[in-house]
Amino acid sequence: MRGAQSEGEFLPLTGVQRADRDAGYARYTPSSTSQKKSVHGSSSGVHPVVTIRRPSRIEPRTTSLKRTYQDIRRTNRFAVMRHLIATAPVVRRDIAAATGLSVATASDIVNELHELGLLAEIGQQASGGGRPRNLLAPALEGPRLIGVDIAETYVHVEVFDPALRVLARAEYELHPHTNSPDYVVDRIVRGIDDAIAQAQVERGRILGVGVSIPGQVRPDGTASVFAPNWQWNDVPLLALLTERVPDMPVILDNPLRASTVAELWFGAARGHEDVAVLTLGTGVGAGLAVQGALYRGATNTAGEWGHTNLVIDGRKCRRGCVGCVETYVGAPGIMQHLAETDPDSPLLHPDDQTATINALAAAHAAGDPAAQQVIATTGRYLGIAIANLINLCNPQIIVLTGWVADSLGSAVLPHVRATAARYALAEPWEGTEISLCPIDRNPVSLGAATLVLEGFLS
Ligand SMILES: [Zn+2]
Repeated sequence: MRGAQSEGEFLPLTGVQRADRDAGYARYTPSSTSQKKSVHGSSSGVHPVVTIRRPSRIEPRTTSLKRTYQDIRRTNRFAVMRHLIATAPVVRRDIAAATGLSVATASDIVNELHELGLLAEIGQQASGGGRPRNLLAPALEGPRLIGVDIAETYVHVEVFDPALRVLARAEYELHPHTNSPDYVVDRIVRGIDDAIAQAQVERGRILGVGVSIPGQVRPDGTASVFAPNWQWNDVPLLALLTERVPDMPVILDNPLRASTVAELWFGAARGHEDVAVLTLGTGVGAGLAVQGALYRGATNTAGEWGHTNLVIDGRKCRRGCVGCVETYVGAPGIMQHLAETDPDSPLLHPDDQTATINALAAAHAAGDPAAQQVIATTGRYLGIAIANLINLCNPQIIVLTGWVADSLGSAVLPHVRATAARYALAEPWEGTEISLCPIDRNPVSLGAATLVLEGFLS
């Protein structure tokens, strides 16, 4: 999967697009609105030509500890694009100041992004007597990106513009007991087609599809999913998807990494280089970034922090381990704390994790002693597990995400901090912060689409 990338295969062009293959570029002219306008604003009627150059496939990004010139260049492109998305409209000088790049380097990258069709000049800023400066923004009429979040019970598809704003979304339920690869792939493809139709976008304008599957994705594109009702072993998911969606590059990864990329670009980890994003749900895991790029490990399974050991001869895990982090801080583990605290608790809905976790959050807020005890217990286990992670990885920031963190995060955080402070070594502890995911939309589909953007920028 990490073989030589074939550059130079370009898109089939339709409609208003026209090919300029001699130049090695596919070009298209936006058919309706123009980029010569304010970021949200009205059209001036000018139709600039936007250039898209899309490789036939996009390789997932990775990192090694040895930084090459290419790595630095890629990191700089990411920094400029992130700043542009966060603060547009901006001028070149401000980009340079914010990213620490020289004005010349920032200008070069701006020109590259413009050539890639990701950036537009949307107006000018007067500059006290000198030449007016061009105001830059993500090219809202530029290429499109698709992000897909697959969970046990749904397929969620979103279409994004280069500022990663959602243009359209489609959701298909998955029957929890009907989960053959063909069935799931069919729902994904329907969701993609549906979202594209809603966004009214030509398929040739789509840079790629990022798909997050809740399991392990090997470098060869096979996926293994170990959910209670879902046992996939080495399903050739990337090949199945590519067969059904042959006209767009497809990237496959898992929610741990999608969430991490979303945090790096849009969330609490923005501006940080060494990051751990902990997903707390039914399952538990970590996404790790080193020097601003995802750390994948040898077989793309780095981050199985949820299955590191907390308790000798402890609780049995669905994945075959004993006493691992997940069995104490995942939703079923928290339910077990509650059952052990008060077997008859009215908060306990044995067959409904979401109802139990939400009831626990509400009861904690209302001062219920049993709920407070369960939260404190969960926070202590999580704090020790995070202290181990801090000692091992020395991250600048740790972000808690996932549906359990959304519900219980603010309640559990003081216990987590107090415990981690006791168990971590002083130096790495003082260099880190722990925070909750601030992204107020689906971080997984957002991150999956951002993986496509990263691949394109690489
Ligand atoms: Zn385990």
